[in-house]
Amino acid sequence: KSNGSDLLYTKNLFKFFDGLTALNGVNIRVKDNRVTLIIGPNGSGKTTFINTVSGFYKADEGHVYFEGLEITNKPPHEIYQNGIVRTFQIPQPLKKLTVLENLLIADYNPGESVVGSLLPGWKKYEEDLVERAFDVLKFLKIDHLWDNLAYQLSGGQLKLLEIGRAMMTDAKLIIMDEPVAGVNPVLAKSILDRIKELKARGYTFLIVEHRLDLVLPYVDYIYVMANGSVIAEGVEEDIMSNREVIEVYLGD
Ligand code: ADP
Repeated sequence: KSNGSDLLYTKNLFKFFDGLTALNGVNIRVKDNRVTLIIGPNGSGKTTFINTVSGFYKADEGHVYFEGLEITNKPPHEIYQNGIVRTFQIPQPLKKLTVLENLLIADYNPGESVVGSLLPGWKKYEEDLVERAFDVLKFLKIDHLWDNLAYQLSGGQLKLLEIGRAMMTDAKLIIMDEPVAGVNPVLAKSILDRIKELKARGYTFLIVEHRLDLVLPYVDYIYVMANGSVIAEGVEEDIMSNREVIEVYLGD
């Protein structure tokens, strides 16, 4: 499975916010069954990029391809059904549900927008869905928390729940904005170890994260953005010795 082909790639992606060029012709390739990391100073366009490829923002120019098919500017739910899941912080209404319930409704609740609209339906879950949810919780090592309300979880446990919600769908590519930001190092390592195991199971990850000390050992390929452009790409050794990258970070 790990043939290293492009699962997702963009061609000359542009995004403007009245006069500001947030994406300036971005070409990024996310290889199948790899962990790809995007780094860059605040405001460099990382979040705009992941929002655009997942359909939450419309691209102004350029193209997005997933599994060889163009998905540019498709609505988020269609992109989600294709197998791209961008994880979101568990929104407030869902924090009043238990951990298990959050997994059971995951399939119906891709983003933050449709919260609540499908809640009455979740009670009709089937037993195999519950079994799958428990398998996911065991894998994430949070099965003991199944009956806790989500708001009782720590920040790191919530991140694991976000991953669990992605696992409950048919996700191929999981996109995560800051999976370990603000998480204590022990739990952060646990989150990253789960990502590594999911990679071994065939998942692909695209991650934005500032905690390089924690994530670099888990990452296969890195893109560096500055002012809406990719200024460097490569493996860790290349990126960390790249003069332009060093300047961008020192100048930040
Ligand atoms: P990063 O994730 O690298 O910190 P962002 O993608 O959030 O950067 O932002 C890139 C630029 O686009 C910033 O100048 C930011 O202010 C701008 N931007 C992002 N989202 C919006 C938006 N919804 N409306 C207007 N400007 C935005």
